Amino acid sequence: MELRCEKVFPKSEINFHCASCQNTLPLRKNFATSGSRMNNDVIDDVFKILEAQVSSWQEPVVSRISREKNPFKILISTVLSLRTKDKTTGEASNRLFNMASTPGKMLELPLSTIEKAIYPVGFYKSKAINIIRISKIILQEYNGRVPDNMDDLLKLPGVGRKTANLVVILGFKGMGICVDTHVHRITNRWGYVITNTPHETEIRLREILPERYWKQINDFLVSYGQNLCVPISPYCSRCKLRAYCDQIGIKHYR
Ligand code: SF4
Repeated sequence: MELRCEKVFPKSEINFHCASCQNTLPLRKNFATSGSRMNNDVIDDVFKILEAQVSSWQEPVVSRISREKNPFKILISTVLSLRTKDKTTGEASNRLFNMASTPGKMLELPLSTIEKAIYPVGFYKSKAINIIRISKIILQEYNGRVPDNMDDLLKLPGVGRKTANLVVILGFKGMGICVDTHVHRITNRWGYVITNTPHETEIRLREILPERYWKQINDFLVSYGQNLCVPISPYCSRCKLRAYCDQIGIKHYR
């Protein structure tokens, strides 16, 4: 585990000797679990703050679409959302679903029509091809129903762990942790995880995050990452989580 000794924790109970910097530091009770001010002693408080904060912002577009309880729409809008801003995803999803909201109807649309409907989402040409391929597989192999498990979802073209987790969680009320760029970035900034990829973050969160927060974390951190803990120069000075956050990797903030 990487150790960061620049932090001093006045209310700690145990002393810790760091082999890398040779300092003796006060150590909090569950340092061994997370090595961060953000840990499971405070996670309930943190989620309360997140819930209150994000309720004042517009919810992520895929969460809004999920209220229609249509797994196909959740799947396709999540595919569209990859590397695309939420506003663009929402507008593209509306245009596409106004023409087709089932795999069968989608297959009646020419490729060029789908491309035009979803433009300018990122990689719209390859996403249009994948939408047709996904629709065909769902119709032919799953009787027109979106599969409800990770293994089958991950076989669909253009569907990675983020999308599969989100479909399981939002479409079927299953258990999963959807880790996208926001969840990966923010949980690492907190110091709650120390990971290099979203996949590693998902694995680590499955180990340490209490299950009661698995479904919420994506919703909350997508909003937080879009509005406050943004990728470049986050708004730390007005962040209510600052007392819990190690601000790992933050050189400039507003
Ligand atoms: S203090 Fe800064 S880095 Fe930490 S969660 Fe808040 S905005 Fe993000």
